[in-house]
Amino acid sequence: MSQLGHLEAGSRHDLRVGLSPDAPDEEDLRDDEGVFGYAHSYETSSRYDGPGVRVVLFLSGCLLRCTYCHNPDTWHLKDGTRVSVQQVLDRLKSFAPALRSLDGGLTISGGEAMVQMEFTRRILAGAKDMGLHTAIETSGFLGDKVDDRFLSVLDLVLLDIKSSDPATYKKVTGRELAPTLRFAERLAKIGKPAWVRFTLVPGQTDDPANVEGIARFVAPMKNVQWVEVQPFHQLGAFKWKAMNLEYKHADTWPPSAFLTNRVIEQFRAAGCNAR
Ligand code: SF4
Repeated sequence: MSQLGHLEAGSRHDLRVGLSPDAPDEEDLRDDEGVFGYAHSYETSSRYDGPGVRVVLFLSGCLLRCTYCHNPDTWHLKDGTRVSVQQVLDRLKSFAPALRSLDGGLTISGGEAMVQMEFTRRILAGAKDMGLHTAIETSGFLGDKVDDRFLSVLDLVLLDIKSSDPATYKKVTGRELAPTLRFAERLAKIGKPAWVRFTLVPGQTDDPANVEGIARFVAPMKNVQWVEVQPFHQLGAFKWKAMNLEYKHADTWPPSAFLTNRVIEQFRAAGCNAR
């Protein structure tokens, strides 16, 4: 088992690979204890990943393989740094007074925040003990595994719904759509605050019917405070090249302002609070 590493500040756009070569495969992970986990990096002053100013912790491990993923170096645990919950909380503690005064908190993203479920839960619980607002960003694919203990330390879910059409979702992510929709419905049922995020990829997710399907699904959900349209960008393209992965979007342009507005207006027309 890898030694504990140094939890490094950095950016989601840093390339990090091969830092824990003997880490388990993310598909086989048994995260019963969750005292240790694998992390990519953390950022200290995000204004986009929840209310106020956030520390965002990017964990390793994801079971999806989105064709446009900006961070393929977060897919595998073996590419991350092995750290303890205590290391994470010790670091978080130094930012806690500033985060509280800026109405912010901690957001755990990835990769996928639920792959290392108990590790994530322990960090969220520690953040709550510091009086911080907590959030995760997730695809919801592992939502069926979430229990009430996990939800009790979570203030907000940033839920990525990548498509409303099962075939498109499969093409984009390699996985099934149904678990994400089930998780969204469960959050709505218990009134857990959520922001739905939709990545707008020209030629892949921009079909009006695809957008309409998400809008109609989300609009009745009173717990969804925002629908955020996130334009595709090329900032992660270099990682695909560096990791020798086949990148299908080398020729895809970011959406025009016109297309982005069309999609935002589609969500608004359905009754969503979209931006
Ligand atoms: S869910 Fe996120 S981290 Fe995982 S493959 Fe998709 S975009 Fe990448």
